[in-house]
Amino acid sequence: MLELTQANYHSIAANREYLSRSQYRGFVHECEAKEMAKLSGDWVDVPTTAQEVGQYVHSWNAGTQNEFRATHPNMFTKANTLRADYLVANTMIDCLQDDPFAMSYLDGEKETILTAELYGAPWKIMMNVQNIRSRRMVDLMTTRSILGKVWDEAVHGYVSFIELAKAPLKAAIYAEVERIALGRAAGDWSEFMIVAVSKEKYPDKAVINLTNPTRLAAELAAVEAAMPRIIALKAGLEEPIRCERCDYCRSTKVLSEVIQYFE
Ligand SMILES: [Zn+2]
Repeated sequence: MLELTQANYHSIAANREYLSRSQYRGFVHECEAKEMAKLSGDWVDVPTTAQEVGQYVHSWNAGTQNEFRATHPNMFTKANTLRADYLVANTMIDCLQDDPFAMSYLDGEKETILTAELYGAPWKIMMNVQNIRSRRMVDLMTTRSILGKVWDEAVHGYVSFIELAKAPLKAAIYAEVERIALGRAAGDWSEFMIVAVSKEKYPDKAVINLTNPTRLAAELAAVEAAMPRIIALKAGLEEPIRCERCDYCRSTKVLSEVIQYFE
């Protein structure tokens, strides 16, 4: 197996060998065809401005801002300050930095990697914060708004940013992989918390506890049920289904018939 490091964690080689929360989400909740194209190197997601703002805030938490500047020159001016489109990231960082309570939850090991065998495949996780003494994992989340509800097409309803981002699924996968990797008994899960900060002009912030064994078990049951299909897709034994809605499907669409508008 590939020895995972922070440098190769997001590589195609690592994603071929290991499942991750984001890859699982791609297969089950987005588009199988796009996810397979990523694994073959035929597709790379281009981050939006909002996503890049989030990535910069994460690099602050990880203590890797200098490396981030070097790999994202599009975000910085010649004077090495953030361009106007991204300036809110500094406000968000200040918002957290000025709050000792929020900062206390960001205290711990940063970007630690663990792997474990789960439902027939090796999985990898990288925790934003791992506090071993408190047996707690903390995920830093950036969002448009903490209190606002957002439309979720999949459930045809308004949901919190927590549900839209499938944070309970992430909490379940991370808690289970961490438990297995550290050799604890079934059901002996660590705490999973979120430190959230919004991208508003005056950012909102919250510390949210997602530890819930009932929800966690339900999320894991869904993962277990979805795994045979994902394993078969990654092994090339089944054809991925195109969603015909995502960026990848639109960019590879080949027309072969007329849409009958009046039928
Ligand atoms: Zn698609």
